[in-house]
Amino acid sequence: MCEEHSIDKNEFLRRSKWEYIKGGKALADFYKMTFTFKNNFVEDKEETLFDYLSTLYKNGQTYSDYQLVKKDHTYVAYLTVPDKNALDPRFNSTFTNKYLHDIETELEHLGENIVTGESCCCNEPSWYMLYTDFTSNESPIVCGDCGHGIPLYKVQHIMGEEGHFSILSWQKVYKSIDNIWIYCLSDRFSKRQLSDPDSQLSRIGMDICAELEKVLKKPVYYFLYQPGKMTENCPKCGGKWKCSDRTETVDFICNDCRLATDDPTK
Ligand SMILES: [Zn+2]
Ligand SMILES: [Zn+2]
Repeated sequence: MCEEHSIDKNEFLRRSKWEYIKGGKALADFYKMTFTFKNNFVEDKEETLFDYLSTLYKNGQTYSDYQLVKKDHTYVAYLTVPDKNALDPRFNSTFTNKYLHDIETELEHLGENIVTGESCCCNEPSWYMLYTDFTSNESPIVCGDCGHGIPLYKVQHIMGEEGHFSILSWQKVYKSIDNIWIYCLSDRFSKRQLSDPDSQLSRIGMDICAELEKVLKKPVYYFLYQPGKMTENCPKCGGKWKCSDRTETVDFICNDCRLATDDPTK
């Protein structure tokens, strides 16, 4: 038993709630990518391939769980991607295209990766939420209407960056802290980071939401985890939480603070 909280089955179910939502969605696809080097001038082939795959990940075209396999002198990558369009070269970043001067790729679709969650296919989501947790590998920008992640390759970069660096870094750190919380370590620290709107983690997340609003032109809420009992008031402004339009996605929102939360007792 933890000092400040105990994790029960509901906690795990709540966090996987979105997996059960029906609606427009794309299954994650799984590909085999075989590499050929166009010339012999590439000094470090493995480093080139690592860097190339990293550009795809930072652009949101593939998830972080990719594998690079070497057999004799052949290199093959196995990639989970958010949807079937993700590896279309028209979505490539300039960084990715730079590597294509040296390497050629051949794709084979191996099927759908049913371990990874689905992506949003809505034509025009009316609102979004920044959400991730310790189990999530998918995009942390969630469509408010269907509750599925928006593939990051479809989202314009923010903060003048040339990749989704801020969003992916925030996600990585959030997941690490959530893991600490779930594992009942450093409860006071991890609880504050996840549930206090003034924690460093929350502030970084809310800055990302504000920047995303500029490019997505729709409200972007920050999911603020509230453990224990449901509070009546938003912890930032003190106003009453409002029921969200889509409780399948999230239970409560505060429009003024752009915060969203779930009732932890449900
Ligand atoms: Zn959607
Ligand atoms: Zn508020």
